Amino acid sequence: MNSFDIVKTEEEWKQQLTPEQYFVVRQKGTERPFTGKFEDHWEPGVYTCVACGNELFTSSTKFDAGCGWPSFYEALDKTKIYEKLDKSHGMVRMEIMCAKCGGHLGHVFNDGPSDKTGLRYCVNSLSLDFKKDTTSKK
Ligand code: FE
Repeated sequence: MNSFDIVKTEEEWKQQLTPEQYFVVRQKGTERPFTGKFEDHWEPGVYTCVACGNELFTSSTKFDAGCGWPSFYEALDKTKIYEKLDKSHGMVRMEIMCAKCGGHLGHVFNDGPSDKTGLRYCVNSLSLDFKKDTTSKK
């Protein structure tokens, strides 16, 4: 499972991340719905991996899924996201991880907007950072 470009010890991750970020990103935890800072955040820009800075999603593909977590219908680039079958908690889901550092992001579901990709990348705010698009007029 150590096929990621960025490999650190758990001690190193613990030092770099806040305890809340560590719980989600390294221990595959989930933040409580409607509590994350990007759940209701609509500025134009790029969402990056909080652990390694990998650019993961753009604001143009973000939509209000009403589920309590930031949701995107498409990844910035398919190669940026690593998908892994997750059978934990009595469910069968597709986990999504940062392809660069292996950080847990959330899950991808098939109930996204049907006029787009039909996918919903459901991501923890704690897994993300945000780079504001300074060239946009809006
Ligand atoms: Fe990462």
